[in-house]
Amino acid sequence: MSAPHNVVIIGSGPAGLTAALYAARANLAPLMVEGLEAGGQLMLTTAVENFPGFPGGIMGPDLMANMRKQAEEFGATFVRGNVTAIDLHSRPFTITTDDGAVQARTLIVATGASAKLLGLPSERKLMGHGVSTCATCDGFFFRGKPIAVVGGGDSALEEATFLTRFASHVTLIHRRTSLRASKVMQDRAFANPKISFEWDTEVAEVRDSGGAVSSVLLRNLKTGMEKDLTIEGLFVAIGHTPNTALFRGQLEMDEGGYLITLGGSKTNVPGVFACGDVQDHTYRQAITAAGSGCMAAIDAERFLESHGH
Ligand code: NAP
Repeated sequence: MSAPHNVVIIGSGPAGLTAALYAARANLAPLMVEGLEAGGQLMLTTAVENFPGFPGGIMGPDLMANMRKQAEEFGATFVRGNVTAIDLHSRPFTITTDDGAVQARTLIVATGASAKLLGLPSERKLMGHGVSTCATCDGFFFRGKPIAVVGGGDSALEEATFLTRFASHVTLIHRRTSLRASKVMQDRAFANPKISFEWDTEVAEVRDSGGAVSSVLLRNLKTGMEKDLTIEGLFVAIGHTPNTALFRGQLEMDEGGYLITLGGSKTNVPGVFACGDVQDHTYRQAITAAGSGCMAAIDAERFLESHGH
């Protein structure tokens, strides 16, 4: 095996790429393993209007391409493979990818979280064209339009309430008759005249007109009855899954599987740092992920310095 890398970064969303940029500019020649979903969740969006520095907005994939190019210009290198195993028990750490194994003095985990999806081909096809998994990101595009939110947890109710600022009407579609969300969120949503509810109902299909969402086919799970609901936006808010399976038994996680970070980006294993959505289920924004990626790179640099590298 070749000499250990100073910094290996796993994951290539805004957190990983910002960590790569900072580590590269600190002359640490970071190696990034991009993972199967290179670029992360922003690859599933269209216009991003809330990343500072881009008046008029920027397309999600373009933002990620720019970040990658910037990190590359300063000496970050990239491998496209996927990580299949990680050994944090001995030093340097060993990271096994589809293409072989690399060793690392420090590891930055930026594997993100994946929004859970309903699993419909039409949902995937219209992602970024009316289907969204982020109300904060995309609510603004639905000013004066009817939309729907799927889910019955705190996220769904928070998003439904937030989206009433923009939408003409919000329909909350939930597969049961009772909500999982906290009482206060429920009360707020029930009291909002712009929100109505479709109970015991699933989305059977997302329909489009000219490539943009035009309605959803709803199916009542008790009666089997189907009906069409005219909407222009569908927000899927059925939870997220942090991409931490590889770290089970090695890094401390909360009950939801999110990595626990203390004092910036430090995990329970010295020399292993985490940033972005893999350790944040609260903010989940590109800019907060990027900020935490910067913190992880600085923490890694200080760790290496204090260990004589
Ligand atoms: P969650 O609590 O797991 O709720 C997911 C919801 O989506 C549930 O209602 C579930 O239905 C539904 N669902 C799951 N899979 C589905 C599918 N395939 N088709 C249709 N519906 C599906 O997730 P979350 O709302 O994202 O919340 C995650 C955590 O963050 C929770 O602990 C929550 O309290 C917390 N959170 C807090 C706040 C806040 O306090 N401001 C805001 C957001 C989130 P069932 O009910 O039938 O299982």
